[in-house]
Amino acid sequence: MKKILFVVGLFSLILASCSSDDTTDETPSPVTPPANITANLQPVGTSARDFLTAENFNSIAIDIVHVEGFRPTNESINNLVSFIEERTFKPDGIRVQFTSIPSNGDNEFSIQEIAEIESERRTLYNDGDELTLFIFFADADSENSEGNSVVVGAAYRNTSMVIYESTLLRVLSNSNSGLTRTTVESGVLNHEMSHLFGLVDLGTPLQSDHLDTENGNHCNVPSCLMEFQIDFGAGMAMMAGNVIPQLDPQCIADLQANGGR
Ligand SMILES: [Zn+2]
Ligand SMILES: [Zn+2]
Repeated sequence: MKKILFVVGLFSLILASCSSDDTTDETPSPVTPPANITANLQPVGTSARDFLTAENFNSIAIDIVHVEGFRPTNESINNLVSFIEERTFKPDGIRVQFTSIPSNGDNEFSIQEIAEIESERRTLYNDGDELTLFIFFADADSENSEGNSVVVGAAYRNTSMVIYESTLLRVLSNSNSGLTRTTVESGVLNHEMSHLFGLVDLGTPLQSDHLDTENGNHCNVPSCLMEFQIDFGAGMAMMAGNVIPQLDPQCIADLQANGGR
């Protein structure tokens, strides 16, 4: 039975200095990141309140970098934007930027390797009252995927997540679930986004006892978007009719208590 694991990476990574010496006349040179990008290099959940409220940031920019051929559907990104709008206060709105990059040929990625790609390819960092989110759509598996237990996404810093898009597509094509690509992408994106919102007990304090203590920082309510593990069979039931899993009332209450909508 296929299983999809949603995994949050709680890593403190040291970012190597970014030098760009590969510019040519033919391609636009990468935007030079602001000198101080440390605000975007913090642990998962530490920017929960900044995502949820307009106290420090009035808008969000989403910096999507995907390997050629692994761009998510436009509908999935629209669903993510709607999900963020539903749960946060951002009076100046949300904008999205897409960048396609060539494959680096790796067969699998560690989180450290994902972070290196981020340091080379991310162009948007917090700027004034705009908060930024980086999403990488990878063309290889996580090194933590084994057999039928595959990792399809991870939040690994306060404003960074990775979707193992090739893994997701493979699992989808091997299943007879009838699920659409958009449903699965949206479920994974919204799940990882919710970790950046501080769920569960990951920067957004618990308002009730719904923490999945065996699988830390997930929700123990059946069918909640923040369930640690969605068995593909159970996922079929959960997503019957291609319905994207939703946050349960206890997860929403946590977000609202931390300033969310
Ligand atoms: Zn998770
Ligand atoms: Zn929940």
